[in-house]
Formats: sequence, structure tokens, C-alpha cells
Amino acid sequence: MTLPSGQLQYHEEREPISPAMPEGNVRTTVVRLFPSGAQQKKIRRLADASARLYNEVNYERRQQFFKDKRVDFKGTWDKYYEKYKRILGSANAQAVLQKDNEAWSSFFSLLKNKDSLPPFTKHVSPPGYWKENEKRKLILVVRQDRYEVDEERRVLILKDWKMEIPFAGRLRWFGTQGRLEVHIDGDKFYAHIPVDVGRVTTKKSKRPMKESLIVHGERDRVQVKTPKGEKVASIDLGINMLATVTVDDGTVLFYRGSTVKADYFYFQKKVAELDKLKAEAEKVQETEAREEVLSERERLFKRLYRRLLHHYRALSSHLSKTLWQLGVSTVYLGYPYSISQDKGNKFTSNIWSYRKLVEAITDKLHEYGIKAYLTVEYNTSRLCALHGVVVERKPRGVVSCPLGHRLHSDINGALNIMKLGIKRTVNVLKKPLSFLVSSNGVTPVKGSNTSDLGGTLAL
Ligand SMILES: [Zn+2]
Repeated sequence: MTLPSGQLQYHEEREPISPAMPEGNVRTTVVRLFPSGAQQKKIRRLADASARLYNEVNYERRQQFFKDKRVDFKGTWDKYYEKYKRILGSANAQAVLQKDNEAWSSFFSLLKNKDSLPPFTKHVSPPGYWKENEKRKLILVVRQDRYEVDEERRVLILKDWKMEIPFAGRLRWFGTQGRLEVHIDGDKFYAHIPVDVGRVTTKKSKRPMKESLIVHGERDRVQVKTPKGEKVASIDLGINMLATVTVDDGTVLFYRGSTVKADYFYFQKKVAELDKLKAEAEKVQETEAREEVLSERERLFKRLYRRLLHHYRALSSHLSKTLWQLGVSTVYLGYPYSISQDKGNKFTSNIWSYRKLVEAITDKLHEYGIKAYLTVEYNTSRLCALHGVVVERKPRGVVSCPLGHRLHSDINGALNIMKLGIKRTVNVLKKPLSFLVSSNGVTPVKGSNTSDLGGTLAL
């Protein structure tokens, strides 16, 4: 799991730990490329070589690992570097190998820390292949000093292949550029440009960075605000209620995602239908029909992901701004234990979805200078947040405490997450403020007392 730039931390043993300063501020800008016909052919050929290199070296390393748990990194590096340096240029062949090295090193460090990890990262497996629909996934990797972004002329310059490719899209971030990836999706080409936001000097010697290695985008800082107060909030994530937020001053926020859920189930159903078709095609060995079904499935997922991401970003912006206005400086985010236990076959998109939601929220909180911690909820829905006793969950959505009161189950969840974080909970809750997350953004739900925040929520 790639964590967003260092500001998210696991809550070890559920003790509040002092957050380290965010170490990295790397954000990735994605722009659409418009290569000419000849350029397209060339990029495809190079991206295919780049993917072959990655998959071949990774295959050999996996074989070694499964055989005797050891990997000869240097030997495999040298072997495949020799094989591909002429095709890709030595700098870019190195960049691909470096990417595989990084995947292995994060795998080994996960393996080493396996017992202290939250459950959802416990199913660690060696790095996989670049594959999509059972074909190579075409990605061209370009070392950070082998390309230039010309903001004035709106072209991406690939130095080793003397290509100047027009691009469209906003360059959001200003700072030192990282390893470029050109992704090919059908007939569309995208450049993923990582930017170390605000950094204009070399890491070690602190000398000024060469201008050509700096992307001159719009913002040179990730964090644009500082917290106004020191309140603590906790967030419970779900599918019906995308986010339930409690603040230690008693504020409760609901973010309902009805269209998100409808989208989600619509896609699940469609995918199930396609899987059935795929199985039928396999039975009669209809390779072409099977391929068609597979790419249709891929298209569906991409559409779903795009829509979910759009909703998550809208939710994250609204949520972060609201918490900042309320004076919150620390947030505890609950990660559902049930989801954390899934191994990622049937519910792959579900897991993906939660991770993206967590990422979107923590990235945005960071912009407001709010610290975020991730806590895995084990029994939070089973216990009353106020009394710590086992509750009954009925009717749906409400918990009944044996001590004679009832509580909205999502609020109970959020309060329990806060309790895990700061060892205390909130005694008096204000009337919840409800919002709807839809394609039109985030809107207050009628009848909800959103005016309590002084009308500041008309975002
Ligand atoms: Zn109770």
C-alpha cells in the first residue's frame, strides 16, 4: 500500500503517538499527452520493452524468492540491464530496475514488520507483474533527469528519444520532478509526473536544483493552512454513510453517499454478469469472446473508479475545510476491520475504494495542517462508546446499550475510534449536520441544522 506522503501513521498498540513531521511532500500530476502517429508507435514500442524488462526481472526474482527466500538483486540487475540498456537507454533501463527494487524492498520491510502491521497489510506477497487483461500493462519509465516539462510551450520533452509531445492539463505542483511514467490506456496517453512540492535544492548538498529538473506548476506548498484550534475529531468510514465524523466539542457530521452506493452496486452486478459470460466463453474455448468480455470488464472498473474518486475528492475537500473551520488539529480515521481482513479477490474494488478514500482524506487534511492517524477498528461496533459494554444492534443503524440508551451506530463507531485515539469520548452530542455526496459535489441535506456553523458550509 502506498501511503500518502508521510503524514499518515498507524496507531501502534492504540496508544496516541506523537506524529513525526511529514517527511515527504511528493504529489503526482497527471496530464494527457497528444503524441503524433509516429510518436505513438515509438512510445508503444518503448513502453512494451519497459514492461518486458520489469516483468522479466521480477519473474526471475520471484523464482529465486520462492526457491530459497533470497533474491540476488545485483546479479539480476546486471543481467537485465545488459539486455535492455540499448533498447531503453541506460538511464531509463536503470529507472525500471530501480522501480522493481523499490517494490521488493517494501515487500521485505512489510515481511519484517508483519506482526506489528495493521491486519489489512498482513497479506503480503512478492511484487506482481505489470499486467492488465492478461496482457502486459504498457508503462514507459523515464529517469527523472531524462525528461523536461516545458510549461511555456506545453510540451513534454523525452531527451533520449528526441521527442517533444504536446500535453494538456493543469500543472498543479511546483518543485523537483521525479521519475516519469507514461501510461497507455487504449488509445490514450498519460504522463504521471511526481513532484517533490516546494523542493528546489538537491537533497544532499542543498545546492540549487537545475532549472530543467523543476516543474513550474501552480502551488509550491502542500500545506496552505495551519489549524485554528486543538480539537480532535474521529471518522468512521462506511458504504451507506461514507463518513461519520465526531468532534470532541460534540459536533457530529454525516456524509451520506447514496449515489456512490448505487454506482457501486450497479457496477458489481455488471461485473458479475460479465464474469458469467467469461466463464461460458472459457467453457467453449472462445478466446476472442473471452478477450472481449475481459476488456469490457476493465472498462467498467475504470468508470467506477473514476466516479468514486470524483466523489471521494469532493467529500475530502468539504470535510477538511469544515474540520479546519471548527478548529480541529488532529483526526483519527477508522479503517473497518472486516474490510481489512479481505484478501482482495471478490472485493478488490472494495478494498481499493477504502484505501483511496483514506488517501483522499489524509491528503486533503494535510493541506490544512491537520494530523491524521489511522486506527483499525476491531470491536468498535460491538461496544457502547460511552460505557464500554456490549451492545445490541437492532433495529438496523441503532445500537441499544444495556444501560438503557440508544445511539446511532455510525456515531457510536466514530466515538469508539476517538476513544481508541485519546482515551476519552464525548458526553454531549450536538444535533448531527448531514451532507449528501453526489455528482454535484457536497450539499447539505434539507432539514439538517447546517446553519449552526454560521453558514460557513456553503462551499
Ligand atoms: Zn451505553
